[in-house]
Amino acid sequence: MRIPLDRLGDEPFAWRQRLTFNAETLERPELLGLGEVLWQGSVERENGVFRFDGRLEYEQTVTCSRCLEPLVLPVESAVRLRLVTAAPAAAGGEIELTEDDLETVYVEGEEMDTLQLVREQLLLNIPMRSLCSEDCQGLCPTCGANRNRESCGCDQGEVDPRWEALKNLRDQ
Ligand SMILES: [Zn+2]
Ligand SMILES: [Zn+2]
Repeated sequence: MRIPLDRLGDEPFAWRQRLTFNAETLERPELLGLGEVLWQGSVERENGVFRFDGRLEYEQTVTCSRCLEPLVLPVESAVRLRLVTAAPAAAGGEIELTEDDLETVYVEGEEMDTLQLVREQLLLNIPMRSLCSEDCQGLCPTCGANRNRESCGCDQGEVDPRWEALKNLRDQ
């Protein structure tokens, strides 16, 4: 979606759209799927710059880091930015940047395309680590069985040092 910054008057520009993404194009193997992405927000002129306030809501399917089973996570994230349309040098001292925690983004041209921004957010929102449950037993490192569902009977003695310590105690 393109925001016509050059034609923005005193009224904020608001949008609300539903986007679909092919999860594969984000090239993160742990991301199995993306539901429809609700992308909404507003842009408003403020002291010579633009205040950008966007919000994403969707569901993502990722793999459990231990057992690799799919799990669906609801996501809500906000993107708040300050947009500046002129290059910093060209803007001279005319733009008064107020002290706040907003990230400043320089937009080239008169329009802002938000697609790249949305893609960045989708990537940022993929958790480093996801668990289907806190006590997920994971996969057997020997035979690959999902230990939440079956006990494969492989010798797990050398896998977990805590068990190894217990075994040593018992053997003494
Ligand atoms: Zn799991
Ligand atoms: Zn096994």
